[in-house]
Amino acid sequence: MKTRNIALIGATGSVGGSVLDVCSMFPNTFRVWALAAKRNVDDLLALGKRFGSDLLVLTDSDPSERLRRASGKEFSCLGGKEALLAMIEDPRCEEVVFASSGTDALPALVLALQKGKRVYLANKEIIVAAGEWIMPLARDRIIPLDSEHNAIWQCLRGEEPSAVRKILLTASGGPFLHTPEEELREVTFEMAGRHPVWPMGKKISIDSATLMNKGIEMIEAHHLFGQPVGKIGAVIHPQALVHGMVEFIDGSVKMLYSRADMRLAVLAALGVGGRLENIELDLLPPELPGISLEFIEPDEKRFPCLALARQACLLGGAYPPLLVGADEGAVEMFMEGRISFTDIASKIESVLSSYSGSEPRSWEDALDLVVWGRERVLHG
Ligand code: NDP
Ligand code: MG
Repeated sequence: MKTRNIALIGATGSVGGSVLDVCSMFPNTFRVWALAAKRNVDDLLALGKRFGSDLLVLTDSDPSERLRRASGKEFSCLGGKEALLAMIEDPRCEEVVFASSGTDALPALVLALQKGKRVYLANKEIIVAAGEWIMPLARDRIIPLDSEHNAIWQCLRGEEPSAVRKILLTASGGPFLHTPEEELREVTFEMAGRHPVWPMGKKISIDSATLMNKGIEMIEAHHLFGQPVGKIGAVIHPQALVHGMVEFIDGSVKMLYSRADMRLAVLAALGVGGRLENIELDLLPPELPGISLEFIEPDEKRFPCLALARQACLLGGAYPPLLVGADEGAVEMFMEGRISFTDIASKIESVLSSYSGSEPRSWEDALDLVVWGRERVLHG
């Protein structure tokens, strides 16, 4: 069987690490020919050597110059804002994993879809901000990597969209599931960044603690599965063993049960329609006897970000990209100790409620709104 060429954007990050772990389990199936990140020269170089990649990409210009000097003739290197586009134009580029954070990779995603590549998508900010323009490009070539969406994608295999009554995303509840409202004001970045189940990047860990991650994921599901947000809900599931569920019009519910480990979502995604046989003991599902599964209604009073995201999705237009940008700005301020944990939601709310500009007409307009929302939070 022919080896599949994988290009990985976000190679030095948390999801990127899971993708690389899976690729290294199947060296005869996958070849990580290109690795891309933003500015992390040392890690990218080390990964390039480990995976024998051909091409290394850094989207920040100065670090990319350092990378070029450090790598000598061992790798081809690309750098700067347009570098991801050049990587995608390369005829060797067949399948692309989008595991970078933020929205910078949006033009690369659009190009990859226009060029007929298969795409694996973890980078949820992109689809939330511009799903309206991305999904019509190639609904069938976008494979969800975010664990909940990957679970739902698995549940929906062989099902008609019209047979779906409800989609439910599960949330572990974050580190403050049982913290009283009055104590939430005092929580620190250190406390909020300590996710009880998944080790993740900093930004998404804070989003999980405010439940904005789940709100953003509801909008992500709306675009990926073409269902109205009224049919998409979230439920707290502290054991984090069921990752997503779909209720169908006949009353049956399909749920996906597996360990909370991103490598499992990657395995299912890279299997495309089939399954990759995995024998890693730490990835086998926990034995059922002795397991209790609990599902709890989220408390939107303590975690208002969930309702803000739902509202942004219902309003559509400028609001989802504004939400993405405002959240990015507010989380940045919280991480720098400039605002409290509970201010994150109020900052976002005030950006959404004060907007009176026009509707985006393209994904480029949506990107501008992300920047506008972020700037508005950071600089008033
Ligand atoms: P990390 O912060 O751990 O890693 C981010 C990665 O993206 C790094 O490799 C970083 O490079 C790279 N990157 C950032 N900006 C750019 C850019 N402009 N061009 C190229 N590369 C860039 O993030 P996570 O892995 O946690 O998350 C990545 C995405 O996946 C996010 O959208 C997140 O919401 C989503 N996600 C994460 C999950 C998780 O378990 N962590 C689960 C599901 C979805 P550098 O190191 O050089 O800065
Ligand atoms: Mg998720």
